[in-house]
Amino acid sequence: MSTSQPARSWVTCANDHPDFALQNLPFGVFSRQGLAKRGGVAIGDCIFDLQAALDASLFNGVARLAAEAACRGQLNDFFALGPSSRQALRSELLHLLDEASPQRERLQAMGSTLLVAQSECQMHLPAQVGDYTDFYVGIHHAMNVGKLFRPDNPLLPNYKYVPIAYHGRASTLCVSGTAVKRPGGQTLAPGAEVPSFGPSKRLDYELEVGVWMGPGNEAGEPIDIGQAHEHIAGFCLLNDWSARDLQAWEYQPLGPFLSKSFATSISPWVVTAEALAPFRSPQPKRPEGDPRPLDYLFDERDQQQGALDIELEVLLLTAQMKDHGLAPQRLALSNTLNMYWTVAQMVTHHSVNGCKLQPGDLFGTGTLSGPQAGQFGSLLEMTEGGKHAVELPSGETRKFLEAGDEVILKARCRRGGQVSIGFGECRGVVVG
Ligand code: CA
Repeated sequence: MSTSQPARSWVTCANDHPDFALQNLPFGVFSRQGLAKRGGVAIGDCIFDLQAALDASLFNGVARLAAEAACRGQLNDFFALGPSSRQALRSELLHLLDEASPQRERLQAMGSTLLVAQSECQMHLPAQVGDYTDFYVGIHHAMNVGKLFRPDNPLLPNYKYVPIAYHGRASTLCVSGTAVKRPGGQTLAPGAEVPSFGPSKRLDYELEVGVWMGPGNEAGEPIDIGQAHEHIAGFCLLNDWSARDLQAWEYQPLGPFLSKSFATSISPWVVTAEALAPFRSPQPKRPEGDPRPLDYLFDERDQQQGALDIELEVLLLTAQMKDHGLAPQRLALSNTLNMYWTVAQMVTHHSVNGCKLQPGDLFGTGTLSGPQAGQFGSLLEMTEGGKHAVELPSGETRKFLEAGDEVILKARCRRGGQVSIGFGECRGVVVG
């Protein structure tokens, strides 16, 4: 398999597509104009309509059951099935969409009944999210932000033992393309003794990866680290919009609250664990002197292949840049290898006290910054808390986000001998 040419699709726009080659096949929920939401699979610039495929009896056995679960207006039931059903459906999709598929002519004849242009569709949140938890596993972000708030003690002593997280707000998760309204709130102006109320003056983004939960566990029954990967359904991009001035005033002693809960944007396509399998990596070695994870968080196989090698990018497009036809400006290029904890460790830690995880729950990784300039996943880090402005090709400068600014997150996987796949985009324009 590894020595042969990579498979190509008869959906020719998929071949060499930057995001959605045949090897990706991410799941999502879409609607055509005026029609109900339904499940589909991205292939090139098109969406493969799972209901249309079921109507044409294209799937058999376990794959058919999985497609029935995935064709609804949310993917929760599909996530609940777990890896073997997902793999069965993926395997049949790979076969059907391969350029050598015996069904090719029949499928091509179905035209836009089966394959609809993404440009003609609206994308929706992929699942109904019961709970959303935001972690803090990007150690460089934790260091950079810690230095701003506590110069003498940037990393608190629990960080290297506990995958730190807080409970976010599922109700304000929104899909890419949704405008984000600037929040109002309490802030304490520098030198002031009492707070005032008004619109946030320090609105920021956070570059994160979202993790979709699969089957999950019963309350009181923790997920063992060795089985944690079976509970991970897929991945997306996530922008944890953050009002830094609200955050600085409210975050102690219990952590972020209104500074984060006004909006969290995610990309619509769920890139499966199977599609990401060729881009697994050993978990990067901890620096000399760091503790070994406690036993319940340590699994040899997870250490060998539990990390992901995904390139992450943040771009900014201001209203003025858009008006002048300028391209979005890259603000950061980072990678998921900057995670101090693996996704399996996040799952196991979250459930170790008996907390119930459910299909369609969403985790954020936390901001995934790299150690150097050009790799910072938030403006807070780029501008060192608003000390320096970022210069843009329009001549404008930014310390924090202004009205009309559009933040665009992208992600892609590249590796020698593998077909590259991407996540699509997570976009949001700031209003007000
Ligand atoms: Ca965050």
